[in-house]
Amino acid sequence: MSVINDVIAKVKEKDPAQSEFHQAVEEVLHSLEATVERHPEFVRENIYERIVEPDRQIIFRVPWEDDEGRVHVNRGMRMEFNNAIGPYKGGLRFHPSVNPGIIKFLGFEQIFKNSLTTLPMGGGKGGSDFDPKGKSDREIMRFCQAFMRELFRHIGPDTDVPAGDIGVGGREIGYMFGMYKKLVNEHTGVLTGKGLDFGGSLIRPEATGYGAVYFAMEMIATRNESMEGKTAVVSGSGNVAQYSIEKVNELGGKAITISDSSGTVVDMDGIAGERWDFLMELKNIRKGRVKEYAEKFGADYYEGRSAWDVVSENDLKVDIALPSATQNEISGEHAQALVDRGCQVVSEGANMPSTPEAVKIFQDSGLLYGPGKAANAGGVAVSGLEMSQNSMKLSWSREEVDRKLQGIMKDIHASCLQAAEAYGKPEDYVAGANIAGFLKVARAMTSCGI
Ligand code: GLU
Repeated sequence: MSVINDVIAKVKEKDPAQSEFHQAVEEVLHSLEATVERHPEFVRENIYERIVEPDRQIIFRVPWEDDEGRVHVNRGMRMEFNNAIGPYKGGLRFHPSVNPGIIKFLGFEQIFKNSLTTLPMGGGKGGSDFDPKGKSDREIMRFCQAFMRELFRHIGPDTDVPAGDIGVGGREIGYMFGMYKKLVNEHTGVLTGKGLDFGGSLIRPEATGYGAVYFAMEMIATRNESMEGKTAVVSGSGNVAQYSIEKVNELGGKAITISDSSGTVVDMDGIAGERWDFLMELKNIRKGRVKEYAEKFGADYYEGRSAWDVVSENDLKVDIALPSATQNEISGEHAQALVDRGCQVVSEGANMPSTPEAVKIFQDSGLLYGPGKAANAGGVAVSGLEMSQNSMKLSWSREEVDRKLQGIMKDIHASCLQAAEAYGKPEDYVAGANIAGFLKVARAMTSCGI
């Protein structure tokens, strides 16, 4: 059995129920086949098996009280996956689907993504099965405080630096940071995505969405095209979707969809100007549902359908797909529909939004497919820049951070293409991202010993 297949089999045997983690491991390790022969030192040091086992898995109880005085218990966790090149770094996800397999898949992906950013950050991820939907502001605050009351002992600005992910935005980071500060009595860069008034970085909320569009631009530029006049389908309506849409508009494209777990809005006039402002207020201040957008502007609304269902079931023209909702949102059928509708570029703002069947269809069709760990690395990259600013006790201007973000996305794109070429997979962004991300971590692990 090959080294790679052997490791995949062991991962499945150890934790049979963790399907998302298996999916991520299989995708990455298959790309790494090409490294096995060229790097006997990685085989000798058993790097392939070591890299799929988290350094530490922390699981804890989070008891909290709702507004009626009832006590609830959720499960919290932090997977400190790999700190070979820097402190563990990665978001916290609050969503009822959260379980160890999902957090391990996200933490595993984060190792390679963070390595690609060129910044010194290891990989980790955490979260809880807590459902923020429908909770009052006070309930969110009490939950975040209870969560941090346990998490604080495991993290630190040079140890493990969490941030946001699905269900965790600026408000939640603020409440968690407040509790950390009470417990540890230090004002440090222990979390990123902080508010601007207390150590946050400009452009952090925008970074994942902007970065995914910058990555799309880099890919399109290889075919001498631009964003001008292109129609983009975006899924989700959180910060990744919001700022992808803003950037598409700024570059002369038109974004026509947003979605949430209840349905999808299609606005053929484009989600721009006062419509984009309305979306921002709806989602970020009122925490409302996208259906309200359709009602307000008379746009089409498809109850219970995802953005990709809507593309499949209607004759929508799509040039660019920006999946920005969650894992495995694009099935093989959805992917085929995107190809049939003329889609030229897929740039993943979400983590692993395409199923393995979808990825295969995208790659076989010859469209430009940018996997999440490269395309959405802008978010964690600006988190890294927030850490730098915090350690230096200064803050950079909007222009400066945006310029650095653009430079990083350009570098990631170039290193994906370069690694893909060097390892015999020209123009394959999946192989390129996995190999380029892996090599740095594997070298560091080899140098540091067992
Ligand atoms: N949750 C984001 C991601 O998937 C950001 C993580 C961070 O900023 O640490 O990369």
